[in-house]
Amino acid sequence: MSVIELKNINKEFGTGISRVQVLKNVNFTADRGELSLILGPSGSGKSTFLTIAGGLQTPSSGTVMVEGERLEQYSARERDQLRLNKIGFVLQSYNLLPYLTVREQFELVRKNKKTGNMSADELLTLLKDLGIDQLVNHYSDEMSGGQNQRVAIARALYPNPEIILADEPTAALDSNRVQVVGQLLRQMAIKHNKAIVVVTHDLRLRAYADHIYQLMDGKLTREK
Ligand code: ADP
Ligand code: MG
Repeated sequence: MSVIELKNINKEFGTGISRVQVLKNVNFTADRGELSLILGPSGSGKSTFLTIAGGLQTPSSGTVMVEGERLEQYSARERDQLRLNKIGFVLQSYNLLPYLTVREQFELVRKNKKTGNMSADELLTLLKDLGIDQLVNHYSDEMSGGQNQRVAIARALYPNPEIILADEPTAALDSNRVQVVGQLLRQMAIKHNKAIVVVTHDLRLRAYADHIYQLMDGKLTREK
């Protein structure tokens, strides 16, 4: 059983003359222990795809299954619980709360999910690997885009989710940091047996992927 399975997914926005079909009959599966990379230019539907895969958005038609459960059967509350317990999102907007320091962002995660998170030592190692361990008392607006991006990555990994869905996680990073993040995500897949799905236009991440897909004009095709 695949951890995530998308079957015949269509997504449209708008009606009449303003109607756009962003995803066209998309089929996709993600498995444990693998990093899947979805490449596509800006506007090709990457974020739409990822948010549908994680239940943040519903498709116009088609089925999303997470660990064999159909998401459409879930109530909003059940979907929230599923995300909290199983899915780590790295969103394009970073989604960090402006009034919390880095340390407090992690404390907030711990308040919502009390068990199964990384230990304090594991978290410190992760922050060091990402080069952000000196920033724990900083607020979002006191950090660069790249630093915010790395905090967002650490926050997604901290609860030990089985599934990691990352939207352009390296957009604000220089090549050295891309390597660190690529290796980290790969390690999460291989060592920790997680399912990792990354959507991006960053070709530098190709080297870390088990599977590579192209999203073009709403159609997903497998390349590797
Ligand atoms: P990408 O992440 O690849 O840049 P998106 O998934 O964000 O692409 O967007 C794909 C297309 O869908 C774009 O043309 C965008 O304008 C459109 N779109 C995305 N979300 C909405 C929405 N909520 N309402 C209307 N159009 C949308
Ligand atoms: Mg996007």
